[in-house]
Order: sequence, then C-alpha cells, then structure tokens
Amino acid sequence: MSTGKLPLAADGLQLNFCKTLACRNFGLSDEKHYLLQDTDPSRPGLVCRECGAFPPLLNNHAVRKEFSRLKKQDSGNLAACSTDTCIAYGKPVLTHRELYHAFGYSGERQRYRCKHCQSTFVDRWSNANPKLDLQQKLLGLLFTGYPVREICRRLQMNPKTFYDHLDQIAARCRNKLASVDARYLQLAKDAPLASTLTTLQPRSENGVMWLATGDATHGYVLLQNINYSPEEDKPDENADVYMPNTRRMPDSFLHLEDGPESAQDTLLNQVNAKYQEVLSRSNVEDLYTRPIHIDYPSKGCLIRPQYTAYAQYLRLRELVPHWDEITLYLPQEPLLRSAVFSIFKDKLLTRQCHPVYVEQNEMWQENDNAENVDIMLLSWWRDRWAFTQKGKAEKAICHLWRETGKEHKWLQQASTFRLEEYQARFHINFRSLVDEPRRRLRPGGLLPLLDIFRAWNNLCHQNNEGFTPAQALNLTRQPYTLAQLLG
Ligand SMILES: [Zn+2]
Ligand SMILES: [Zn+2]
Repeated sequence: MSTGKLPLAADGLQLNFCKTLACRNFGLSDEKHYLLQDTDPSRPGLVCRECGAFPPLLNNHAVRKEFSRLKKQDSGNLAACSTDTCIAYGKPVLTHRELYHAFGYSGERQRYRCKHCQSTFVDRWSNANPKLDLQQKLLGLLFTGYPVREICRRLQMNPKTFYDHLDQIAARCRNKLASVDARYLQLAKDAPLASTLTTLQPRSENGVMWLATGDATHGYVLLQNINYSPEEDKPDENADVYMPNTRRMPDSFLHLEDGPESAQDTLLNQVNAKYQEVLSRSNVEDLYTRPIHIDYPSKGCLIRPQYTAYAQYLRLRELVPHWDEITLYLPQEPLLRSAVFSIFKDKLLTRQCHPVYVEQNEMWQENDNAENVDIMLLSWWRDRWAFTQKGKAEKAICHLWRETGKEHKWLQQASTFRLEEYQARFHINFRSLVDEPRRRLRPGGLLPLLDIFRAWNNLCHQNNEGFTPAQALNLTRQPYTLAQLLG
C-alpha cells in the first residue's frame, strides 16, 4: 500500500536515504529530499532530488526482525538471562560476567543468578562432555569427507541421531568461540575486515546465499549468516516494502532464458560485466530481481538477501562500538556497498570507515605490490577503480568514497582471499553433505555444520607456518585439537 511516505523507523533505525556519499542528501531521511514513486518491492522506490540516485526502499522493522533472527541463531544457546524485560537479557555469562553471580550447581552444571532480575539459570555446557569420544570420532569422519550414511554405519547410529549429535557439537563450538570472539573484538581493533558472499550449496540453485565477515589478513571468521530461515514459512506472494513480511521471499522469480554468463578474458571486462548484471536487476540490492533459476527449498523460507546483509552489518556495528576505524574489503556487489554505507553512515561521514571493492584473477599473488596503476571511472556510479597488471596476473580495487593517493597501498593490502578460501574449503571438505540431493532442498541441516566449521577454521586449522587464525591474532596460544573443541 503506497503512503507517499518513507517506511517508518524502527527503534531509531531508518535506513532509507540517499547513499551517494558526495551528495548533500547522504544519510538524510526527510521526505522532502526525495520523490517516492512506487511501492512494488521489486522496483526502486526513492529518487534523490539532488543527485538522481535511486536507493531501493527497505522496511526498517524487517531489518530489526532479521537482526534478531541472526543474533538468536549465533548465540541463542549460550547461558544468559532470559527475562526479556531485564537489561541483562540475552547477554551471555561468557562475555558479561559482571552481570551475574555463580549460584551453586545443578548436578555437574554451573548455575548462575542474574544480578538485575534475580532469575537463575543453568549453563548447559559447563560440564565435561559425556559423549566426547563418540563425537570426536564423528567429527573426524566428517572432516575426512565421509558421507553421512557411511558415518552412521561405522558408528552404528541412525541419521536422526547423527544430526542430534551435530546440533550438540555446534552448540559446544559456539560456546567455545564466544570467549575467543570477545578477545578478537578487543585485540583486533586495527585489523582490516573482509566480507564474501557465495552460494551455500554451489550445485543446488536453491537461492541460499552465505555471507561471511572476518579478519582479512589471517582469516578469523567473526560473522556468517545465510538468507534462509528454517523456522518460517514461505509466503504466497510478494509483499510490498511497507509490510514487515516483505523480507520473506515467495517462490516467484523472473524466468531465466539464456544460458550462464560467459567468462570474461580481462579483469576490466569482468568488472564491466558485473555492472551490467547489476543493472539488469529491478532492485540493485536484490540479486533475485533479475531473470534467474531457483529451486525453492522444500521447507523453511528464503529471506531477501538485503535483509540478511543489512542485519549482519548491524550485528557487526553492535560488536565494535569501541573500534575507531573500520576497514572492510568487499567483492564488487552493490548489496554489500549499500549495507555498509547505510549501517556505518556516521563513520563514513567522518572518514573512519573504508569500504574497498577488491577483484583479482587467480594468477595474482597475495601481498604482491602494484607497479603500474591505471585509474578508471566505471558504471552509472562513476566508481573510481585502480587496475594493475603483472604478466597475466591482474588486480583491481575501488575505494568506495574515492580516497585518492593510496591506490598502491590498497592494491597491495586489500584482499578478500582468506574469506574466499574459507568458504571454498567448506565446499570441498563437506562436498558429499553439501551436494546430497535431498539436502539441496533442505539447507537447514547445514546450519550446525557452519558453526562447527567456523570453530574449526578459527581454532584448529593451521596455515603453512603452523598457526591457526586465532593464534596469528594472539587470541589463543596453541591450536585446539578436536577433543579440546568438544571438551
Ligand atoms: Zn543524492
Ligand atoms: Zn536478568
């Protein structure tokens, strides 16, 4: 329903405004600065009277809702006060000791009392793991690449029991990670971050994207989310952006007629082809508003990717209030650009946020320096790209508010390689599980695996020099063994 007004703010959150940093209207949400022309969720709804940009509209309440969903998924099982009116609500004991008293035991498990509302609760993960041996074997087999039915046969369990164990292992992993994540947020203040976006199951075409954000240099993964909610239902039709359920995607897509896009020979052609793909979307922030083939999951609900991406950066903003500067390396994708610009608008105005697009080909060597640099203004956005080349190796960066004079530095340092490597390793390690025909339409079963993989990547997996990402960042002293991860 069109109201001629911007979607309402949600607890002070208003994400609808001009996203051109050089424009006078950047960050301003007063309706007089814009023309509102349409309320179809697949079409742009806002036109800036100053610069002519057309940022798509978002439902702020739906971003908040997605934010809560992600937060619950990431930390829902950690011991914390569960009184929803209490100031300690949802703040885990692991990272907010000051809010709680230890309050005896329940069996072998630690009990706590909230200092504010006096409610008591038990930390389910504070006892020794009684299933350590079995779960360690299970993980060992899983990481060796055995299919689920083979693991079940060897360990004499049925698939239901297998997935129950996986849930429990994931919960222990999240618990282990919570305190290391807290150290990361304290100690890695000056380190650049990177985000990457890929499909969760590359061969499934089920519409589930996987967004990961973490340390760009050592590959410590801090946040990862998918735009799929196993607990919600698919709506029958598109809801306009004024309705809170606009974040849920119905099974209605523009049909794809052509074959897959052809490979590009040079990096410049690749970057230009990407801009063309983006402009074929009716909503530049929504990858599903162009002709595309999707086999909708048979259970649960796809979330419009902009809601998951904005919510993840909202999570990031909540975690790093004490960071003076934020540097974020991104693949060339306007969804991520808009999300970063919207969520970190204040830091952008004071130039304390550096979002940088990075693209490179396979021949590029990490940390190689750029000798010759070509500057080019590309696309409708007039994005200022710097390209460099060494033989067949090519790399390009685009500082999104056009900082000039530091192209060599960004060309050398900016990289999304570690995060891409992380996601590629997941796909290789768990190929049989990820590609299982039944699993392609039921992606929810991969959620615990994502938590386990993040813990393994951050705490157990050693690089060529023998260091885990957590060690390289001085967060832990030694690599964790699987037994330590599960103990
Ligand atoms: Zn503008
Ligand atoms: Zn409380």
